Amino acid sequence: MVRAIVGANWGDEGKGKITDMLGESSDVIVRFQGGSNAGHTIINKYGKFALHLLPSGVFYGHTTSIIGNGVALNIPYLCEEIKSLVDRGVPEPRILVSDRAQIMMPYHILFDEYEEERLGKKSFGSTKSGIAPFYSDKYAKIGFQVSELFDEALLKEKVWRVLEQKNILLEHMYHKPQLNPEEIYQTLLSYRDMVAPYVTDTALFLHGALKEGKTVLLEGQLGTLKDPDFGIYPMVTSSSTLAAYGAIGAGIPPYEIKDIICVVKAYSSAVGAGEFVSEIFGDEADELRKRGGDGGEFGATTGRPRRMGWFDAVATRYGCLMQGATEVALTVLDVLGYLEELPVCVGYEIDGKVTRDFPVTAKLAKAKPVYEKLPGWKCDIRGVKTYSELPENCRRYIEFIEKEIGTPITMVSNGPAREDIIRR
Ligand code: GDP
Repeated sequence: MVRAIVGANWGDEGKGKITDMLGESSDVIVRFQGGSNAGHTIINKYGKFALHLLPSGVFYGHTTSIIGNGVALNIPYLCEEIKSLVDRGVPEPRILVSDRAQIMMPYHILFDEYEEERLGKKSFGSTKSGIAPFYSDKYAKIGFQVSELFDEALLKEKVWRVLEQKNILLEHMYHKPQLNPEEIYQTLLSYRDMVAPYVTDTALFLHGALKEGKTVLLEGQLGTLKDPDFGIYPMVTSSSTLAAYGAIGAGIPPYEIKDIICVVKAYSSAVGAGEFVSEIFGDEADELRKRGGDGGEFGATTGRPRRMGWFDAVATRYGCLMQGATEVALTVLDVLGYLEELPVCVGYEIDGKVTRDFPVTAKLAKAKPVYEKLPGWKCDIRGVKTYSELPENCRRYIEFIEKEIGTPITMVSNGPAREDIIRR
């Protein structure tokens, strides 16, 4: 059985916590897209961790963690992340890396920086982890597959060939120092030695695991609104954030994905530029940012303050729809206990007309939020274990959201820890 955990919004919905929690009853946990550009925050008995590349299941002794073929694999980063866990007392996790995953090259990160610098005010607000140049090269067919590290003649020829093109761009477009092919080649050989212990045909491994009746968890990064096809293009990420892409990025049959858990945040937050209809500003935003998440809403990778907003039912309904959500985990609800009333964005007004359907980016830019206000519950709900114990106004908020998004909310998260969860 395959289960996917994916985001309905702009990312940072708390997927890491849900994956960590459901990892307990899983055998295999797979990252299928993205790279080290986003972070999951996990709190468990070993401490507090911000994972960027490793799946959130690495804390369990019984799980196998897979870096799938769809991931942008930063090899030194992976090795450092593994070391940072082991150094803090986490047992050495069992990690497999797809031989078809492609490698984040040192120059991808440079090109990401140079391009953002060149764009200046028009930049994408990239995390500068090299993601866009990486996926551009993958689809331009000049990326490097892990398997290619193990064929020196092929590797050498390819490094010299690809760098010819890169150096023209560096010299004439960015006016930056050129790359030395011998140096890049040597770096790749060192990458080969670092990654070798983990490399295997992970798709084959997964097919075998499924045949044996194992439970596989696909761990998504970011959320629907950052998907290159269905998100707020072009302010999106460069690989698909949808559960459906899990089949490709992991190498499993699409019909095996039986359960799609969409993680939905009880309010909105986003990092980076892009349309954000229910965004709030000033003191109101500062207050929510300060109270949000676990110790404030700041990016797990960049430390940047997140943009804040009220719950957006239009964006979230669409987010769940495009994910194909079978159930929803509603997170960080505890944070909202301070509010007298809670505005929920239930429609977008565009050119004088109100719509409940999430539009294309050009129309989004003109959208104004239409709010409905719900009464607050004015108390701390952390520590509550059952749904019926929640204050009435809190249940009303949950049930209102459930009706708006049209997907059953089966889990409510009321704190950052693994056990802060109310199942319905
Ligand atoms: P992810 O990328 O979707 O995994 O999200 P992040 O980990 O970047 O952001 C979620 C933040 O909220 C982290 O700091 C979590 O520890 C925290 N968090 C997750 N669930 C809850 C919750 O129910 N309540 C509170 N207060 N914090 C939570």
